[in-house]
Amino acid sequence: MIITNRLNLSEAWVRAARDSYDYVGWRSVTELIGPPRISELKRRHDAEIEVDVIDLISSIFGEAMHEILRKAGENEKGVITEQRLVFEVEGKEVSMKFDRYQEEDEHLKDYKSEKISGYMHDVKHEWKCQTNSYAVGIRKILDRPVSRITIETLLKDWSLSQLVMSKKKGDFYPESPIVKIPINVWDEEEAERYLAERVQLHARCEQLHDNDLPFCTEDDRWVSENLWKVYKKPNLERAVRGGAKFTNPDEAEAFAEHKGPDHVVIHRPSESTRCLHYCPMRKFCNQYNTEICPPF
Ligand code: SF4
Repeated sequence: MIITNRLNLSEAWVRAARDSYDYVGWRSVTELIGPPRISELKRRHDAEIEVDVIDLISSIFGEAMHEILRKAGENEKGVITEQRLVFEVEGKEVSMKFDRYQEEDEHLKDYKSEKISGYMHDVKHEWKCQTNSYAVGIRKILDRPVSRITIETLLKDWSLSQLVMSKKKGDFYPESPIVKIPINVWDEEEAERYLAERVQLHARCEQLHDNDLPFCTEDDRWVSENLWKVYKKPNLERAVRGGAKFTNPDEAEAFAEHKGPDHVVIHRPSESTRCLHYCPMRKFCNQYNTEICPPF
């Protein structure tokens, strides 16, 4: 991957971004739980993909957080931190690195960082798949049971003033900048079956031409809702309270009328957020170039 530096930041930022990429084994658990189109295009075109360092800041932030917590947990008794494991699934080498395992309560923990808006939704399916796949590796290689899984998430944009304001309005807002999210532990067979199916899928895709790779689903593409939002002029950045989630334009118009003459409705059509703003594979992706954003 070519990392550009359009803001001419210190070289250390670029090096930090580069250090966060490493391939071990045939596929990592993180790749396996994700769409094969993304991982195949990434592997095949790695040398041609260009990403600016500024777009990698959030992964540098995540790496920094993990490194601090790894060091802090290094000599804790009965705790295994950030250990890389490689194990075989369907004859392929799968690698993983879990964050923390506590022997006493057979507890696997994963650290994440997330925005409040992401936390307010349901627990991400990929988090359940990722941690339960880690549990497979821990049972197989470390020969230890996993009875509990928790994700400890740092909410990057949490603010005390927002908490106070939300309490006054009676809105829900997390009480602290770190939240604990319990994850259901799948039974061993179910977790192993899931991982075997993902390995089979990715192995089949390895044989396919770029243009024949299975298309990314709406979930994979982080497709946003087709919405009509109500704004108070001149602030067209943030919808007014209660006016951000209309799926019907007539209801949005009625709400705006009720709010007063300085209120307007703006249509925010659904979009493939990941493709448009985050996925560096779009240059090589026929799904993107023919369906999501075809040239005029
Ligand atoms: S650009 Fe979109 S469709 Fe193409 S690989 Fe990326 S996420 Fe998938």
